Amino acid sequence: AAKYDHGNGYCFFSEEMNKNATRQLELEEQLRHALIDQQFEVYFQPQFDWSRQKLTGVEALVRWNRAQGEVVPPEMFIPVVESTGQIVALGEWVLRQACLQIQQLQCQLNVPLQLSVNLSGRQFDDLSLIYKVKKILQETNFPPEQLELEITETILMENADSARKTLGQLSQQGIRLAIDDFGTGYSSLNYLNTFPVDRLKIDKSFLVNVMHDDNHAAIVATIISMADTLGLSVIAEGVETMEQVSFLSDLGCQAMQGFIFSEPLPREELEEFVQKGWPFQQ
Ligand code: C2E
Ligand code: MG
Ligand code: MG
Ligand code: MG
Repeated sequence: AAKYDHGNGYCFFSEEMNKNATRQLELEEQLRHALIDQQFEVYFQPQFDWSRQKLTGVEALVRWNRAQGEVVPPEMFIPVVESTGQIVALGEWVLRQACLQIQQLQCQLNVPLQLSVNLSGRQFDDLSLIYKVKKILQETNFPPEQLELEITETILMENADSARKTLGQLSQQGIRLAIDDFGTGYSSLNYLNTFPVDRLKIDKSFLVNVMHDDNHAAIVATIISMADTLGLSVIAEGVETMEQVSFLSDLGCQAMQGFIFSEPLPREELEEFVQKGWPFQQ
């Protein structure tokens, strides 16, 4: 590590920092090409209603097919495209692809599917968001009532006033709104209810420990019962075991998504999955 004297203090500069910065720039450059070369792909994770034993919809989750069959998960690149602003273009592409493919699938198989798509904070700040969403729905012929947009609590709370307006306009189009990773932020359910929100998605970090950690179990139970009181729907994500399924179902949360049912699937595998309809044998 080298030390440079900046007059009134020291500035540390290490090889490690240099390498990281270079790697970051390379990644940004690769992502720029990935958008142009269409290296992104939308996967779909099925969502279920346990009490009705029914596939109800899917969540669109983006993947990056970088090279030679290497599939890069979103944690590796979403933060980068968020910092560069490329997320606005990528997010629009994901929404269009997802609407296109699910519309095609439900027409072909005659099975209605709800579609959830994640929205990042940057997209939310984009003044043309409403216009873009409307245009994509028209172009793909996707019914607005079957679309749900997921935003996190933090996005909502950080821009409460503009969020209220944007969400209002989306919900006027018939689109539904869900709060993703619910429970990890700091909003009160009561305050949340002043926004046109339809559904809460209980964060998967609570589910992981729900069978061993009384606090997490209590948090999940509270979210479910308060959502019910406030007239909001609720879905649990990250459901991996039968114990978790029973726990949620006993509390009245029937909407579930997680590896016990299915991982996120590419379009062709989703098609096979939808044809089967229900992953468990009777
Ligand atoms: P998320 O929206 O909360 O999505 C749920 C994540 O949980 C997905 O990770 C999914 O694969 C994972 N998951 C589902 N069931 C289980 C389970 O039973 N166990 C465990 N351990 N994990 C499960 P994924 O696909 O890696 O996505 C991570 C995050 O990246 C998403 O979290 C979302 O915040 C973001 N993301 C993904 N696609 C998009 C996108 O198109 N736009 C934006 N803005 N963000 C996206
Ligand atoms: Mg999500
Ligand atoms: Mg989530
Ligand atoms: Mg998340």
